[in-house]
Amino acid sequence: MSSQALEQFLSSSIEDLKAKGLYNVIDTLQGANGPVIQIDGKSFINLSSNNYLGLATDQRLIDASVKAAQIYGAGAGAVRTINGTMDLHIELEDKLAHFKKTEAVIVYQSGFNCNMAAISAVMDQHDVILSDELNHASIIDGCRLSRAKVIRYKHSDMNDLRQKAKEATESGQYHKIMVITDGVFSMDGDIAKLPDIVNIAEQFDLITYVDDAHGSGVLGAGAGTVKHFGLSDRIDFQIGTLSKAIGVVGGYVAGKKQLIEWLKLRSRPFLFSTSLPPAAIAACSTSVDILMSDTELIEKLWANSKELKHGLSQLGYDVGQSETPITPCIIGDEVTTQQFSKRLYEEGVYAKAIVFPTVPKGTGRIRNMPTAAHTKEMLDQVIFVYEKVGKEMKLI
Ligand code: PMP
Repeated sequence: MSSQALEQFLSSSIEDLKAKGLYNVIDTLQGANGPVIQIDGKSFINLSSNNYLGLATDQRLIDASVKAAQIYGAGAGAVRTINGTMDLHIELEDKLAHFKKTEAVIVYQSGFNCNMAAISAVMDQHDVILSDELNHASIIDGCRLSRAKVIRYKHSDMNDLRQKAKEATESGQYHKIMVITDGVFSMDGDIAKLPDIVNIAEQFDLITYVDDAHGSGVLGAGAGTVKHFGLSDRIDFQIGTLSKAIGVVGGYVAGKKQLIEWLKLRSRPFLFSTSLPPAAIAACSTSVDILMSDTELIEKLWANSKELKHGLSQLGYDVGQSETPITPCIIGDEVTTQQFSKRLYEEGVYAKAIVFPTVPKGTGRIRNMPTAAHTKEMLDQVIFVYEKVGKEMKLI
């Protein structure tokens, strides 16, 4: 019998989520997460994945996975520091370091894990973290885990960051001060003002930390937001994920040799959680090879997103201020946004509604994620459906 207190807690919490419209129903895909997906036996044009370059279903990655599984087995068998480090892991880390133009790289089991691992390995209760208010949940959790004081600065507001950096420095209270930002913000698609952040960091001796989950494989010829701004030697921590543009799973920290050495010695997910399986590592390695040798997929991604943004704004939709392929279509109130997404779904377009509290009240939007794998016909069909549904709901 389970505890009464637990049952009460679960029932009332779940009811509360339902009452607030925050109860998440999870769709099940019957097949791959490509540009077209199958749910309940029906096909949808998929505008909700992070598979930016279409590499999740690329035959070259699949072949590399199969081959690695045949040679190395299905699982890595241990944590990295016992004997779960295979030559495949080292090869991927070396390749990523070369690609990111940093001295070294450490690979973790996910991007989420990276933030839990890396922040808490260097920051503690004597330190302070200046964190953009729109940073990703894994950064927020990583900061909490570190026990450092967290001070949020207004989104991409450099005056606010400078002021807070000055106050933290002048207080003389902290051993270390870190500034953390997403490279690309995932809800609006805007890019962090890294050149300004680096200048402020250098003025106040801040540690710099950029989570580039949405910039890697997309900006800077694939090497990310830091490369895009030419700041590779001025940022301490570059976090990347292997689950979005790279198309597989995992995450990594790129930085100086000594930093990576420390993370290998002290970061807990590296020490206490089994390393990624050979098939995943081999697929990631092939993906990085593709990115390093050819920018065709990146160009296709940008061309597709330009076409989608253009098509939606021509129809009269507000596509926000995105500077990246992330294409929000701002609808407004929560109920209308949810209804809009439901109608898109009924018309064969899978594009999720993002509403309060994930985004501010009244700015509910459909978050469209075009990829390099979408064809012109697919994008034309999406625009056709947006026109049909928008007119029907009197939004355009
Ligand atoms: N950081 C950011 C900014 C992200 O958007 C995400 C993914 N939503 C993550 C980290 C987590 O990455 P992963 O899915 O590889 O755990």
